[in-house]
Amino acid sequence: MRRKAWIALAALGAAALVSLGRAAAEAQQVFNYFAKNEPPALEIANLGAGLYLAKGEWGVNVGFLVGDEGVLVIDSKATYSASKKVVREIRRVTPKPITKVIFTHSDSDCFNGYEAYPEAAEIICSAKCRQELANGMWTLLEMNAPSGLYSSEATARAMPEYHPAIAFDGRMTIRFGAEDIELIACGPAHTGGDVAVLFPARGVAFIGDLVFVHHEPFVQSYKGGYSFGLVTALSMLLAVKPEIRTFIPGHADPVGREEIKAILRSLEEMQAKVLAMFNEKKSLEDVKAAFCVPVPPKGEGDWIWPSLAVTTFRELTERRIEGKNPTGEEVRR
Ligand SMILES: [Zn+2]
Repeated sequence: MRRKAWIALAALGAAALVSLGRAAAEAQQVFNYFAKNEPPALEIANLGAGLYLAKGEWGVNVGFLVGDEGVLVIDSKATYSASKKVVREIRRVTPKPITKVIFTHSDSDCFNGYEAYPEAAEIICSAKCRQELANGMWTLLEMNAPSGLYSSEATARAMPEYHPAIAFDGRMTIRFGAEDIELIACGPAHTGGDVAVLFPARGVAFIGDLVFVHHEPFVQSYKGGYSFGLVTALSMLLAVKPEIRTFIPGHADPVGREEIKAILRSLEEMQAKVLAMFNEKKSLEDVKAAFCVPVPPKGEGDWIWPSLAVTTFRELTERRIEGKNPTGEEVRR
């Protein structure tokens, strides 16, 4: 029996991320799962020396690198048809075949369109990501898009036949043409199996959904995401040598080190505050009040961006995550 990836939506808003508390307060606009929005137009940005960024359409930013003998792609769009458009754009740039596809994580909006890529392409992801996809776990999408968008698309058809050629733990370097590309499995963070794709010679990294520039980070808890792991992952990426100067998130334009440092600081401040409240035996309601978490909207299909402070508090109190929490206790889902 086929497993379906169940979809709910989350959105990109306009509020600039200054601090997580403020972002949480500003992100109170209500979105609706049933809104019939048109996708943003597909745009191709040339990042130089054969590296491109495909923004827009439904789904995450897709990267592609034209090498000596083929094309390496990072992620797919959320639908088959959107990914087909990306493939057409790749064809405008080069006739070389797509030979490798790397997935930054298992969410539907970076995976569902993968069938648009050639069957012969080698698929690379983290071992955890493979496990999440095999389990057909729920995905809370991170776009303001209609909820029915994905039901008729590729995930349900593609997932049973999904067999990555390489599912790795830790780090892996691949040689592509004349360039070394470093893959770092840096979850659990946004999901259980996030991967950062580094181009060390360029100082560029595709970081999937480790950050959301216009909203506070979003942790897909039920598939192993872990808010404290986000701090570990971002700290590690900031410490990598040679330095990453340009970070490309899944749902925003590229950002620099200072933006990542600001997001990391906000995360640490929020978590310190939540941890203190946990140690003082405060309640979830206390946390919601302290972080101005709005009451969920009641209209059918209405939703708001999830509060990371609430996620963090639940990690501490509900033991939803495998591993150790910051107080050193074993936690399990
Ligand atoms: Zn995601």
